[in-house]
Amino acid sequence: MDISAAKNTLTDYLKEKKLRPTRERFLLLEEIMKTNGHFDADTLHASLISKGLKASRATVYNTLDLLAECGLISKYRFGESQSRYEKAFGRPRHDHLICLECGDIIEFVNDKLERIQQEVCQEKKFKIQNSTLQIFGVCSKCQSKKKS
Ligand SMILES: [Zn+2]
Ligand SMILES: [Zn+2]
Repeated sequence: MDISAAKNTLTDYLKEKKLRPTRERFLLLEEIMKTNGHFDADTLHASLISKGLKASRATVYNTLDLLAECGLISKYRFGESQSRYEKAFGRPRHDHLICLECGDIIEFVNDKLERIQQEVCQEKKFKIQNSTLQIFGVCSKCQSKKKS
């Protein structure tokens, strides 16, 4: 999905929800398109401000919720107080390993896990929208740091 397709998705969703298609919302979407990896709302807000873009914290928070609702971004809880987000368009579903020492988030895809999820959902007639398996632990870098 490219930026114009993503914008169309947001436009349609805002129309459906009878919300205003404000400039800030689309600027935010453009910024997110440029990101790689996982970010939280405050970090995104700070980077917008540093680029001279005007968006209040409240706008950032509610736009992120809107983008998650219409499937353009994924919202995760990685056991922190803040939610984490990442762009979802054009990205395959994947799972996460989260290092409790350095906070690193490692992504992985495993075909067997994919199949198990599909099986479970089919069995329960459940329509999957978004999911992530989260494994908390200590990454290899932090493990070797401890040893030395
Ligand atoms: Zn680590
Ligand atoms: Zn991810």
